[in-house]
Amino acid sequence: MQDLTDLYQSVILDHNRRPRNYRVLPQANRVGHGDNPLCGDKVTVYVQLEGDRIAGISFQGSGCAISQASASLMTVNLKGKTIAEAEVIAADMHKLITTGAVDEGNLSDLAALAGVHQFPARIKCATLSWHAALNAIKGEATAATTEKPED
Ligand code: ZN
Repeated sequence: MQDLTDLYQSVILDHNRRPRNYRVLPQANRVGHGDNPLCGDKVTVYVQLEGDRIAGISFQGSGCAISQASASLMTVNLKGKTIAEAEVIAADMHKLITTGAVDEGNLSDLAALAGVHQFPARIKCATLSWHAALNAIKGEATAATTEKPED
């Protein structure tokens, strides 16, 4: 068993303890869900899309520190971005999580998640909210208030 110290860096611990944008977004017009039964992580991502720009983004969920910190970091990094920019960041993020290769100057605080690549079982924890966000952005328009909880 490898030491988990690298994985739980201060950025991850901070975002897990004090998740950013952790709330329902009443003005959201896109909603995405993620479920990782292997670890018990669940996340719902709320997106307010204005044209092709992410004007607002938030999430709610439960699960391990990696999943919640990654969701928090995701909202901070995608807010205000265009759909095209968000897709580039998400692709960089996926590469970072699966290979540990940090693209200098491009991923900022997201680099804290680079250590996840050493723990294949946790990769899905880290990517869960990103998939949910992309699904939300590309999905049909919906209203956050009419979204029924799954299960
Ligand atoms: Zn997890």
